[in-house]
Amino acid sequence: MRERVIFITGYARSGSTVLGDLLARKLGGIHVGEVFYLPDRGARDQWLCSCGQYPRSCQIWRKVLDDLPLGLDDVDEWLRDRAACRTRYLLWGLPAPSRRFVRRLRRLYSLLHEHGGCRPIVDSSKYPAYGYVLASQVFPGRVHVLHLIRDLPQVALSQKYRVKTIPTAQGEILMERAGVLRTSLHWSVLNYCAAKLTRVAATYTLLRYEEFVQEPEQCLKSICARVGGSGGKEGLSHVFSGNPGRLEAAGVVLQGQDKSRLGFWEKRVANLVCKTTLRALGQSMGSRTPCAR
Ligand SMILES: [Zn+2]
Repeated sequence: MRERVIFITGYARSGSTVLGDLLARKLGGIHVGEVFYLPDRGARDQWLCSCGQYPRSCQIWRKVLDDLPLGLDDVDEWLRDRAACRTRYLLWGLPAPSRRFVRRLRRLYSLLHEHGGCRPIVDSSKYPAYGYVLASQVFPGRVHVLHLIRDLPQVALSQKYRVKTIPTAQGEILMERAGVLRTSLHWSVLNYCAAKLTRVAATYTLLRYEEFVQEPEQCLKSICARVGGSGGKEGLSHVFSGNPGRLEAAGVVLQGQDKSRLGFWEKRVANLVCKTTLRALGQSMGSRTPCAR
């Protein structure tokens, strides 16, 4: 049986970790989080996996890292190859990835398939350029893309205020924070570029986080139907990079946020950029229009 990859794209703090976990559970798949960061956050810095182990001790990632192999000597080479996957390159043309990078990614996902019990792989790496390489070069025409969009004011609020720590083998580090203007620009460009995955995906599904929160069961059912149904196995989660809430007993929860802590102009800017981007996305995608709110 061949690998089945469901790639979640979208901006950070959009709810992709909780979506990945719930989808893997529904699909009988394995949620492996932000695989994009395997060489640095996984192999080298050892961010704690959602199973409670560091990647080199985790029952899945340990085998994958050993079999690849991905030792510390290989990390720099991998990072150099990965630098071809920058979001902005999708605006004017993505450079061809090196053959070595494509070969390595093929091997990586095939090992995840093997060690994950032949389950569908849910990858919440999000970076559109990385998803483009996966869907066009690594597994052409076989990657299902799920584009998750969360309203910009909510994302901006989370980027501005939320402080969370990330446990790693070297100690705890803080999640990055960003101002509203920077978040607005990045959110807009990234979501615009993520829509380009329609060209190379086996299926492309646009999902608004706010709609997902309203009817999670219905959304998950229709996603499962689009990506080929459930394999009837128990879902697994081995996420070393994603929302730190994955490490809490209750897991990451679906929630909205209070926008009141954004200033007047911050709210105006975020709402304007949000509506303009969603309108542009709707125009480029015809009937699959995300509603601007
Ligand atoms: Zn694990």
